[in-house]
Amino acid sequence: MGSYQTLFLDRDGVINEERPGDYVKNWDEFIFLPGVKEALGILNPLFNRIVIVTNQRGVGYGRMTEEDLKSIHHRMLREIKESGGRIDAVYVCMDIQADSPDRKPNIGMALQARRDFPEIDFSTSLMVGNSRSDLQFGRNARMCTVLVGNKYTESEKEPALIDYAFENLLKFAEKYQKGL
Ligand SMILES: [Mg+2]
Repeated sequence: MGSYQTLFLDRDGVINEERPGDYVKNWDEFIFLPGVKEALGILNPLFNRIVIVTNQRGVGYGRMTEEDLKSIHHRMLREIKESGGRIDAVYVCMDIQADSPDRKPNIGMALQARRDFPEIDFSTSLMVGNSRSDLQFGRNARMCTVLVGNKYTESEKEPALIDYAFENLLKFAEKYQKGL
């Protein structure tokens, strides 16, 4: 897998359980996926920067407020930190328009991250996500892409978009730690 400097992570379906057809609207609905805290502890020393990039249309649709989302992320970051992990920044796209430049698969949030952390180089960045839009985002920014989760069957997986695939973030972290 080589030596990567920056880790971009999707949130829903990577860090926490997805709520199909709904949004994570409050902390009670935010459930860490198994092994995620351990995974982030492993990944912490292995990357210069670790950031989350997440589409959250629920705000744009009025299903929750920006304050609700901030509160969820505040607690999420606290728990990650307490368990030895590190997230340097969380980028959120609340826009509902599919063609918003910030909404994955468009790369606005990657550009924001690079603005905040100028050392970020997409050619040494990994994007980990559970959806096609994450993989396409990674491709659009010319990052290495990692699919996690089981959203897609083998025949639905598009090889052109996927550099690596793992069952979950912990499996990825364990493999990455060994250097592949
Ligand atoms: Mg997702």
